[in-house]
Amino acid sequence: MEKITQKAYAKINLGLDVLSRRPDGYHLVKMIMQTVDLYDLLTIEKTDEPGIQFKLLQDGQAVTTLVPEDDTNLVCKAARKLMEKTGRNLGVSFTLQKNIPVAAGMAGGSTDAAAALTGMNRLFALGLSDEELREIAVTIGADVPYCIMGGTALSEGIGEILTPLPSPPQVPLVIVKPDVSVSTKAVYENLHVESLQKHPDIDGMIEAIKKGDLTGMTDRMENVLETVTIALHPVIAKIKRLLEQQGAIKALMSGSGPTVFAVFEEEAKADAAAKVLETTGHRVIRTTFVNPKSKEEFK
Ligand code: ATP
Repeated sequence: MEKITQKAYAKINLGLDVLSRRPDGYHLVKMIMQTVDLYDLLTIEKTDEPGIQFKLLQDGQAVTTLVPEDDTNLVCKAARKLMEKTGRNLGVSFTLQKNIPVAAGMAGGSTDAAAALTGMNRLFALGLSDEELREIAVTIGADVPYCIMGGTALSEGIGEILTPLPSPPQVPLVIVKPDVSVSTKAVYENLHVESLQKHPDIDGMIEAIKKGDLTGMTDRMENVLETVTIALHPVIAKIKRLLEQQGAIKALMSGSGPTVFAVFEEEAKADAAAKVLETTGHRVIRTTFVNPKSKEEFK
């Protein structure tokens, strides 16, 4: 095997709470992570000469001007860390087809890094366990260990303590990405945890997911970062309202934003809402939840 192509899936947060801020500036979180059926494609090829080559493929809809095309790309960073850890000086060439909206709260960079780690492990038969890959992953970014795992999970600590959960009921989703970019760092810096009036009921959401109770889950969908990002970009609140007017059970900002996702009960309603949202000029994606490790799990 000389070449493989990996799907690097995007995530959304069904719930996002921030518990406290550590003295080192990191925030302790409690989030429900969920993979959605939207992915970048990372092709990994062996080369004769040692070293890392990287090429970015443009997608008409994804804003790729923000994605570094040099060795600061998280894919290259992941490759370097993997080589350091294994003490191997490998020759590798990456081609990344970017489809996931960038700086959008969908862990685009983190999932590409995760795909680089798992893909190189396979291609070069490095024999690292998932646990070992996750140890390298957390040194790249807090969301990278989750991206290796995928599916539905509770994420705690700074994002590195992961508990797998069963998949929630399968529902049609509409994702809307307004044309503004948000810096995750800036959003967290502007969050004042101590003055949060209300915290999401993440434990209740876990129970609802375990029971397959869709309304129990959607009733608890909240994201404490909305307060910060919506103040900066009121368009997010407008999109949420519009989606709910179009019949969404619930619409919520994902991660630090600005992407909004909406849960629908019926395919037809989701399709119709997606059409309406398209007329606003924002990028619209019709998708579903997915568990990359067991696609057949969803009916
Ligand atoms: P998160 O949800 O983890 O906060 P995000 O979706 O908000 O992530 P990303 O799309 O990961 O944000 O991009 C954040 C920044 O990371 C980009 O502005 C870009 O400079 C940098 N970056 C490095 N590598 C990549 C990559 N492969 N894809 C996207 N962005 C990358």
